Amino acid sequence: MMIDDEYTDHFTGGISPEPFGANMAATLLDEQVHAGLGDTVAMRFIARDWSITEFTYADLVDASWRVAWALRNLGIAAGEAVFTLAGRIPGGYQVALGILRANAVLCPLFSVFGPEPIRQRLELGRAVAVVTTTSLYRRRVLPIAGDLTTLRHVLLIDAERDHELLGDGPGGHRVHCLEALMSLAPERCEIEPTDPEDTALLHFTSGTTGMPKGALHVHAAAHAHRETAQAVFGLAAGDVYWCTADPGWVTGTSYGLSAPLACGVTMVVDEADVDVERWYEILEHQRINVWYTAPTAIRMLMRAGDDLVGGRDLGALRVAASVGEPLDADAVRWGQRVLGAAIHDTWWQTETGSIMIAMTPDIDLRPGSMGRPLAGIDAELFASDEDGELELGPTGQPVVVDDPETPGILALRSGWSSMFRGYLDAEDRYRKCFVDEWYLSGDLARRDGDGYFWFVGRSDDVIKTAGHLIGPFEVEQVLTEHASVVLAGVYGVPDETAGALIHACIVLSTGTPETEQLLRDVMAHARRRLGPAVAPRQIKVVEDLPVTRSGKIMRRVLRARELGLDVGDLSTLENPGAQEER
Ligand code: AMP
Repeated sequence: MMIDDEYTDHFTGGISPEPFGANMAATLLDEQVHAGLGDTVAMRFIARDWSITEFTYADLVDASWRVAWALRNLGIAAGEAVFTLAGRIPGGYQVALGILRANAVLCPLFSVFGPEPIRQRLELGRAVAVVTTTSLYRRRVLPIAGDLTTLRHVLLIDAERDHELLGDGPGGHRVHCLEALMSLAPERCEIEPTDPEDTALLHFTSGTTGMPKGALHVHAAAHAHRETAQAVFGLAAGDVYWCTADPGWVTGTSYGLSAPLACGVTMVVDEADVDVERWYEILEHQRINVWYTAPTAIRMLMRAGDDLVGGRDLGALRVAASVGEPLDADAVRWGQRVLGAAIHDTWWQTETGSIMIAMTPDIDLRPGSMGRPLAGIDAELFASDEDGELELGPTGQPVVVDDPETPGILALRSGWSSMFRGYLDAEDRYRKCFVDEWYLSGDLARRDGDGYFWFVGRSDDVIKTAGHLIGPFEVEQVLTEHASVVLAGVYGVPDETAGALIHACIVLSTGTPETEQLLRDVMAHARRRLGPAVAPRQIKVVEDLPVTRSGKIMRRVLRARELGLDVGDLSTLENPGAQEER
């Protein structure tokens, strides 16, 4: 490997001088070392085999500079997008901090995504580098490498220095061993100062139509991550904190990386997937004080039976909290009874970057409600029509919903540091999210007389399944790639564990007989292209799909018909009789 000798003359500095730079890595790491937490364990990783690896705040300062140096030495400049595609393993977290330190843009991907969603995001984000594991590189990146015209480097987190994959990869990128690069780095390198408004994070999220949207967040967002974690979890140095989120989800960055480090706590990261007994073991033996998880996981714990908790000492648990899907009142009370800590709901989105509404410990618990807006956050409900579109009053302004029984579109007055600053290359889509200074979240909610918000649903067709936000359009596109499928409509149906499951109705090309083999083939195609988390669980063949006169598939009609519900106003339908099963 070539090292740029000239570059090595420029290494400077360690911990940023006070006042700390605006760089997010400085906020997360240098501030803590300066405050005397250098030897405190910042991250404790539990591997699948229960072995433990720990990093202190000082270790992470060193690692982040080494990664930053490695990226700079490969010619990766400030503002270029570096993607991570890895599970909950130490290298993924070190790299994320190094990307921030290097002033590059961190874009985390879900490792459960198949090659197609990954290709779309790498292309849209103009990825110059991907940091991943050997297995994910083989399974997820190599099949699409030929399409990735901007990709220059792949850094393998787990590769040995003589790994057969190192060197030139297909499509013009080079494959490197991350460890080798990091070991060559002197302690630190010079990076130009970061502006608080420099882009730090790119998080892809899904809309009803079109390609995934890349929400852009800035370095200053770390302050909102910290302040909201203090307000909602009371997070402070000395706490042991466990966020179970996947690093590919915005929660994995805001509260699985940034907030805990910015608060100086010891964060626990478990590599394994949800496993009820293992989770209780971790809560007990790691003496977790603050636990942030999701309703899908909570429902699994509830279903597994309370006997598994009997005899365990969960007395260290001070706050349990949940995000991503509706948390029902039973789950809140179950937490109180079984864990000894009520589960506090929190509401926010990729776009808001940090918690906006929560059942904070200082307000009376109302099981089933999301809580109230945090201090400094203005939330409002605006009237919407049947299709979830904003209703404007006679003056052209949104109409505020006052009635506690009537749902409205949840809107937030923008102005906090973790608010997204745009959708990548999609200024129009970004602007459409706002009415004056109000950001329209796309969620419907009610507000009771005491100002508590209650989640009602989405005003659009996006599907939340097991915590993943899935755009139906992305799934439909892949289904219609199959030679025998001409049309596809994708929608969510309620599921006790996952919240919603993805179902699809497809129309076959003329003359194609519907056989079990064909359906299996379409399903296999979807799973291969989309990955198991995004592929539909059920595919049904129909004669035709209901579409509006403007040609949009009426997914809510498909969903209502499957569930035997009232399909609502069909006046805009082009073909109201469509969707009879074959
Ligand atoms: P994401 O951007 O992937 O984090 O998804 C954000 C969406 O998840 C929101 O717009 C909501 O639809 C849903 N969501 C997040 N938190 C909650 C919550 N506490 N209750 C109900 N839905 C939620």
